[in-house]
Amino acid sequence: MDINEGVRNTIRSLPPRIHLCYQPRSQTDIQRGQVVGALSSLKRFGQGPSWSPVVTVSRSASFKNALVQDYHITSHTMSVDVCIVGAGLSGAVIANRYANETNKKVLVLDSRDHIGGNCYDYVNKYGVRMNKYGAHLFHTKRRDVWDFISQFGTWEPWEHRTLAKVYTADGPKHVPIPICIPTVQQLYDPDVKTEQDMLEFFKNETKDINFTKPYKNSEESTLARFGRRIYESFFRDYTIKQWDKSPERLDASVLERIPLRLNYDDRYFTDEIQMLPSSGYTSIFEDLLDHSHIQVLLGVDYLKHKECFKNIQTTIFTGPIDGYFADYNYKKLEYRSLNFKEENVELERDDDYVLPASVVNEPSMKVKYTRTVEYKHFLQQKAYTSTLVREYSSSEGDPYYPVPNDENRGTYKAFQELAETETARERRRVCFLGRLANYKYMNMDQAIGNALDHWEDWKRDWLQVCDSPVPQTVLHRPQQHHNGFTQNHIDDVREVGKVA
Ligand SMILES: Cc1cc2nc3c(=O)[nH]c(=O)nc-3n(C[C@H](O)[C@H](O)[C@H](O)COP(=O)(O)OP(=O)(O)OC[C@H]3O[C@@H](n4cnc5c(N)ncnc54)[C@H](O)[C@@H]3O)c2cc1C
Repeated sequence: MDINEGVRNTIRSLPPRIHLCYQPRSQTDIQRGQVVGALSSLKRFGQGPSWSPVVTVSRSASFKNALVQDYHITSHTMSVDVCIVGAGLSGAVIANRYANETNKKVLVLDSRDHIGGNCYDYVNKYGVRMNKYGAHLFHTKRRDVWDFISQFGTWEPWEHRTLAKVYTADGPKHVPIPICIPTVQQLYDPDVKTEQDMLEFFKNETKDINFTKPYKNSEESTLARFGRRIYESFFRDYTIKQWDKSPERLDASVLERIPLRLNYDDRYFTDEIQMLPSSGYTSIFEDLLDHSHIQVLLGVDYLKHKECFKNIQTTIFTGPIDGYFADYNYKKLEYRSLNFKEENVELERDDDYVLPASVVNEPSMKVKYTRTVEYKHFLQQKAYTSTLVREYSSSEGDPYYPVPNDENRGTYKAFQELAETETARERRRVCFLGRLANYKYMNMDQAIGNALDHWEDWKRDWLQVCDSPVPQTVLHRPQQHHNGFTQNHIDDVREVGKVA
């Protein structure tokens, strides 16, 4: 992708009033002319935004800190009632409610260079919409959650189906997961046809398993439900790859969540509402954050610059709770992360696919990755090149999945006590919201529902306090950093300072 295209894509992915922080990837990229060129060509071709994006170009190789390296955030111009750390679902939903229901001024910060948190998606150079942080399928039973989120963007029904690649004496087979009648028929017994047959089949599979409830760990709970054959083919090795722990060392609850269907339903989820956003998740976030009282700053790590925001009356922190309290030197909470490896495959026709399903799980130790996602399947996108993404589980990298065990629960409890003190403060209170701050895996609907539920409590308890006068904040670029910038650079930089 050339640099202009990169900038154009970034601009397209941003809603009005979001400050574009452009991250140079090399020394030549930082030549400002290229960025300005991209902006003016957008305007010339009528593709440019009607609003004015503000571009900051940093000379620093590490752009992450550029904004705050180049500016001091001091008092007196911009009034901010609430600072929301994290532009993921939790942060964006609260920002939206704050701005719409109270008319307060909201500042949303994210250390990444995009909005959307882990739901962020984009269209790649082959025209395929991809999730940067793993496939995201929206599904919910909560009508109130759907009523809320469906106001933003447009959505289409999508029932997700996943296959597992299982190695048999006859070679590999792609079979439906969760396990249902077709799975059992294809692998073990073609005569299993009814719910009663399934009950008989599993009774037989588990007849030698003597574990009883409450199960001590995930090995016991899975063996008791599925029997040894299925446990070994589908769950044991997959769990080791995913969690780097055998099921014996994981809470029973982790694998207890895996459904077993006694019918022909091969859908991954059974929720009544199953949807995908027609123009991607990022567009939903654009709509959520599209309010004149919401300002978004990207590429700013709150924890590195906490002092800059200390005067803000209320902060909602949606990042990792152990990161927030890192000074206490408590034990670190464990997370699992993922590494994504892409492969592009050329196709003869734009409606061809490489894989038989959008997601193929790899439950065997024959390969190190846990699953492959072929994004083109989602909403049946057309493209002559398909991008496959293989997911490798890892203990290093962005925190994705909390590891649920007694040790982590104990550590989290200690952080939770600290968090309660921060939240109870009358002024400069900090509240902890979302999957990282609450150290709890949440699906998208749970993250939205959790944010909406908290909002109802907070608005009742706090709004009076928030009505008190709040300190003001402005971004200033300190004099000593002017060296080396041309006048134009400085003008642009000052524009960024006009946050209000
Ligand atoms: C691989 C994967 C697949 C998933 N698939 C599905 C799915 O199919 N269906 C489903 O319903 N859900 C899925 N989810 C869950 C979904 O991603 C979460 O529900 C959702 O992201 C939660 O939103 P959040 O705002 O709480 O957290 P996040 O999306 O993680 O947002 C937190 C934000 O805070 C920012 N942040 C953290 N620390 C700081 C800091 N110090 N300063 C500034 N910013 C900071 C982060 O950069 C991030 O953008 C999946 C999750 C993962 C990891």
